[in-house]
Amino acid sequence: MTDIAQNLATVKELMDKAGQNSPAKAAHIDLVAVSKTWPGDHIRPALAAGQRVFGENKVQEAEDKWPALRAEYPDIQLHLIGPLQSNKVNKAVQLFDVIETLDRPKLAAKIKHAMDQSGKSPRLYVQVNTGKELQKAGILPDDLPGFLDHCRQELGLAIEGLMCIPPANEEPAMHFAFLHKLARDNDIEKLSMGMSGDYETAIATGATSVRVGSAIFGARDYGPAA
Ligand SMILES: *Cc1c(COP(=O)(O)O)cnc(C)c1O
Repeated sequence: MTDIAQNLATVKELMDKAGQNSPAKAAHIDLVAVSKTWPGDHIRPALAAGQRVFGENKVQEAEDKWPALRAEYPDIQLHLIGPLQSNKVNKAVQLFDVIETLDRPKLAAKIKHAMDQSGKSPRLYVQVNTGKELQKAGILPDDLPGFLDHCRQELGLAIEGLMCIPPANEEPAMHFAFLHKLARDNDIEKLSMGMSGDYETAIATGATSVRVGSAIFGARDYGPAA
């Protein structure tokens, strides 16, 4: 059995240690507990231990899972950390407190529209494809300043942070440092970077939030098809 409360305590302890030499040390570093693929019953021990910030990568899965848990724990904060399709924007704006994967003008326009319609205003992060990988979501680094300008000036959207997922086969520290520089150059405060394998590195490089799944909840099983 996975001891989720113990795992959570260990992750927090290592985050605290890493935070002592982080460039963001004055600020609090948030732990986004990534609960994708896990049913509510597997998540409950984390809630019981006081964890309130969670990450999901699919809108539909989050919609199936979180309203029931939120009825019990109204102060839950949900982050969308997976790619967002245009036809899911309305639901996403209803459901999530933070959307970390804004990465194209069409999506920005849809989010703006959904915000105006619903009166909800999730905080927004722009996902940057720091490794310029063809198959990966995220805006290319060279396009970031223009995209931020578009979001801020033309749509009036406040962009709170940047997010990245480094290429699997490269040194993550280099990508974290690059995202940190992009944030500084573009006047952005928050940085979502680091997962189970590299969150301490991310914190040492300036992360203000880390997205940790398997180190808390155990290894995910995507089933025979995956
Ligand atoms: C699944 C996922 C994570 C968490 O990964 P772990 O290695 O299990 O910690 C973090 N970020 C994103 C975008 C993810 O999809």
